[in-house]
Amino acid sequence: MSKKYLNFDELQKREKLKLSTKSKLIRKTINNNPQYIRGRAISVIGKTVQVELDTNDKIVYECIVSGRINSPHIRANIVCVGDYVKFLVDEANEHILSGRIIEIEERIRKFSRKLPGKNYSEHVIAANIDYVVFFLSAFDPAYNKKLIDRLLIGAEIGLVKPIICINKIDLASSTKEIAKDLEVYDKLNIPTFLISVNQNKGIKPLKKMIQDKTTLIFGPSGVGKSSFINLILKNDLQKVSEVSEKTGKGLHTTSFVKLIHCEKNTTIIDSPGIREFGLWDMDKLNLCFHFHDFDKYYPECKFKPCTHIHEPNCAVINAVENGEIDLERYQSYINIYETIDDDIYF
Ligand code: GDP
Ligand code: ZN
Repeated sequence: MSKKYLNFDELQKREKLKLSTKSKLIRKTINNNPQYIRGRAISVIGKTVQVELDTNDKIVYECIVSGRINSPHIRANIVCVGDYVKFLVDEANEHILSGRIIEIEERIRKFSRKLPGKNYSEHVIAANIDYVVFFLSAFDPAYNKKLIDRLLIGAEIGLVKPIICINKIDLASSTKEIAKDLEVYDKLNIPTFLISVNQNKGIKPLKKMIQDKTTLIFGPSGVGKSSFINLILKNDLQKVSEVSEKTGKGLHTTSFVKLIHCEKNTTIIDSPGIREFGLWDMDKLNLCFHFHDFDKYYPECKFKPCTHIHEPNCAVINAVENGEIDLERYQSYINIYETIDDDIYF
C-alpha cells in the first residue's frame, strides 16, 4: 500500500496549532515583557509575512509590515523570504500568534532580479542563503545556456554560490552529450548535477551538497522543481515517519516563494517558475568581469576599457577566434551586453 503524506500547508497549520508548553511559555514571557522578537521570514504573501522563531519547535507568527519600519534596503522589496526580522507581538490577538515587523536586518547573501517592467528596482527573491540551484531540464523544456550564463551572474552579484542541475536526463538521448555541453561550467568550478527525479537518479550527491545549508531552488516552470522538492521531503518524512492517512496529494504546489525545512539542518527555498530574468545592478562595462573565462585575456586588450566587441587588438576576441574561449559563452556575453539597457531578457 502506498504511503500518504501531509501537504505543506497542513504541516504548517499543524505546527502552528501545536503550541507546546515551551511555546506557551515563550508567549507568556513576551506578553509580560513586550520586546522585539527575532525570527526568519519563511513566506511573504502580500503584506502578510510568516515569521518563524529560531526555536526547536519552529513556532510561526503571522506578521504584518506596517507603519514605520527600520530597514537598510533601499529600492528593493521591504521583506523577502529568508530575511531575519524583528517583530513586536500583537497581544490583542488571542487566537493566533501574530505580530508587527519593525525591523529587517541586513541581507548577507541574496539572489535578486531586476523587477520586470520599467522601474529600476531590485526584487530580492531570497536572502541569507548559501546556494542557489539553477534547476533546468534536459528536455521538455530543454535547458538554455544563455539563461544559465545570465543566472550565474545574478548569483555572483548576490554573493551566492551557484549550482547547475539538469533534471529529466531520462528523456535525453545521451547523458554524455549533456555532460560535455556543460564542461564549460566545470572549468569555471561550478558544480553541475545531471539528475532524473522520476527515476530517482543522481539525487543523492546533490542532496549531500546542500545538506545543512539554505538553498534556493530557481528555474523555469515545468522542469521538475516541485517534483524534486516533493521527492526530498518524502524521503525525509519517511525517515521521521511523518505520514498522513488523509491525503495522497503532492506535498505542495509552488505559487510563491517559501522556506521549507528538510532533514537535519537542511533548508530549501522553493520558488515559482520564471519566464524571464533581468539582471539587477549590472552595467555594460562591468559585465565582462563576471565572465571569468575572460579573466586572463582582458588585461592584454589594447584599449582600456574594452567592450570586447568591436575594438581592434582585443585579446578576448582573439581568444574566441583561437578557440580558447568557448564561442557560446562569448555569444552569451554579447546577448547580455545588448540587453542590459533595454528590458529584454533571454
Ligand atoms: P516545476 O514547474 O518545475 O515545479 O515542475 P513539476 O515538478 O511540476 O514537473 C513538471 C512535469 O515534469 C511533471 O509532469 C513531472 O512529472 C515531470 N517530471 C519531473 N521530473 C521528471 C523527470 O525526472 N523525468 C521526466 N521524464 N519527467 C519529469
Ligand atoms: Zn577586449
